[in-house]
Amino acid sequence: QKTAYEIYQCDWSSDVCSSDLEDYPGFLSIEGSELARLMQEQAEHFGAEIAMEDVTSVRSEGPGGIVKVVETFDRTYRAKAVILTAGGSPVKLDVPGEERLNARGVSYCAVCDGPFFNGRVLAVVGGGDAAVEEATYLTKYASKVILIHRRDQLRAQKILQDRYFANPKASVLWNSVIEEITGDNSVDGVRIRNVVTGQTSSVQVGGVFVFIGFKPNGDILADTGVTRDHGGHIVTNANMETGVPGIYAAGDVRAQLARQVTTAVGDATTAALAAEKYIEALTHP
Ligand code: NAP
Repeated sequence: QKTAYEIYQCDWSSDVCSSDLEDYPGFLSIEGSELARLMQEQAEHFGAEIAMEDVTSVRSEGPGGIVKVVETFDRTYRAKAVILTAGGSPVKLDVPGEERLNARGVSYCAVCDGPFFNGRVLAVVGGGDAAVEEATYLTKYASKVILIHRRDQLRAQKILQDRYFANPKASVLWNSVIEEITGDNSVDGVRIRNVVTGQTSSVQVGGVFVFIGFKPNGDILADTGVTRDHGGHIVTNANMETGVPGIYAAGDVRAQLARQVTTAVGDATTAALAAEKYIEALTHP
């Protein structure tokens, strides 16, 4: 399954963005952006209003913090309850060349950028589901894909590993980390260090795709007193309640085992029901 993050990182208006889900109940296969569009249409049909704005902060106001205030760049919203579903952002490698060559051969989205790398040798960094799945996707365009992983064992599900290794364009460099991404105006290679032998080498590649996990976008709740775990995920109970009454979290932004579209949808259902009960209790104590 795709994470909610993987779906939303796509440019919906772009033809190249086709992130298929093959295990969302009810569909043999559906494009992520199409599923999101259908969800939006359904929500609007039942009266939801949707505003496309960047939220900068969430805070509580008034006696006992009863009013929830959501600030965006342009507006301030006041509500009785807030459900945060902000997902996450890709973790960066934090090596020389990565920032400078971002969007010039360094990418964090295979479905968005893969088609631009037709016939090139590509490096994919990471050993989890995302890296292995996206590496397999990139074999559609690349002449060769080199998966670079810091250990000698992948963390990805076996089915994804089997699919990758069955592809003749797939290869892997074990126990290896990228120390530098090189190139003047675009990526022309990576400098790699073997973490076991300490040996360094240069490999010529035309692009570097980084999938080493993702960081939850929970910072906007920093001033609310909501608890977050060591990775920055928002901690909730089974009702999606944070420790602050009236503030809920759902999906990839909260601490949980799975980061799947199906679990995010389940979280959101629970959070909406819990928020409704909370608002009812405020109105009819
Ligand atoms: P992940 O499971 O946390 O894996 C991150 C990978 O990157 C690990 O292999 C890790 O190495 C490696 N890594 C971390 N920091 C690194 C660094 N600084 N340098 C080099 N390598 C580094 O993250 P993910 O693959 O993005 O997946 C996130 C969540 O989404 C997971 O729950 C996953 O199951 C889910 N997901 C599911 C699917 C699917 O079901 N098809 C697809 C994509 C994502 P180590 O192994 O050594 O720790």
